[in-house]
Amino acid sequence: MIRSLSLVCSVCGAAFAPGQELYYKQEPLLQDIRELKLICPDCIRCWEKKWQVEDAIFQEENYVLTVTVTLADGSVYKNLDCTALEETETVVTGKDIPEEAQRTLYRFYKTWREEQESHKLEDCFFDRDAEGNLKATLTTAGGEHYEALHLRIRADGSPETAEDIPDYIMEELVTALKAYAAQEAMISSAAAPMPRTGGFRRSEERGKNTRKTGDYGQMREFGRPGR
Ligand SMILES: [Zn+2]
Repeated sequence: MIRSLSLVCSVCGAAFAPGQELYYKQEPLLQDIRELKLICPDCIRCWEKKWQVEDAIFQEENYVLTVTVTLADGSVYKNLDCTALEETETVVTGKDIPEEAQRTLYRFYKTWREEQESHKLEDCFFDRDAEGNLKATLTTAGGEHYEALHLRIRADGSPETAEDIPDYIMEELVTALKAYAAQEAMISSAAAPMPRTGGFRRSEERGKNTRKTGDYGQMREFGRPGR
């Protein structure tokens, strides 16, 4: 049976003449070709013109990568789910964006990823002196070095330094401190007769499901010297 399909753009509603290619919105459940959502060349051009990526800020949390994109026309798309594809050097997002924009996003992604890697700690040493004061000496993969940072633990359990350090260093320190605390707890329990000179321990070892509220929140200082 021969049927015809009128070429009407599903975006602007105008009838159009297609070029070499016909653009349409992919819909897996499409039953009838007459329900196909066509897009006219003008609307495609408009879409491509709109997606001039000016800035892209990536964020990764629990292995979920998202990006906030700012376009040249000022529009902002916040926290789009996205995946970086190394093979094609593109970043695909939950939103339909032109291929050129996907490639631009990948360039932003690469810079961001390299920066992330350079922020990671290459090494970190803690030192607790006789007075119980804790100091950290660390080097990042990118070569930043901090010597004998004075650490203080706030009432809420978060660490504090007298020196100004970037947030990413602080985040790494929190993780490193956890490992150190576990180590100290192990040592102090192994050497039970020795007086505790200070350290860290999780206050909430029971109830595994209560451990969600920030990793460091469960640690408290104990065994302050002089008591
Ligand atoms: Zn159109």
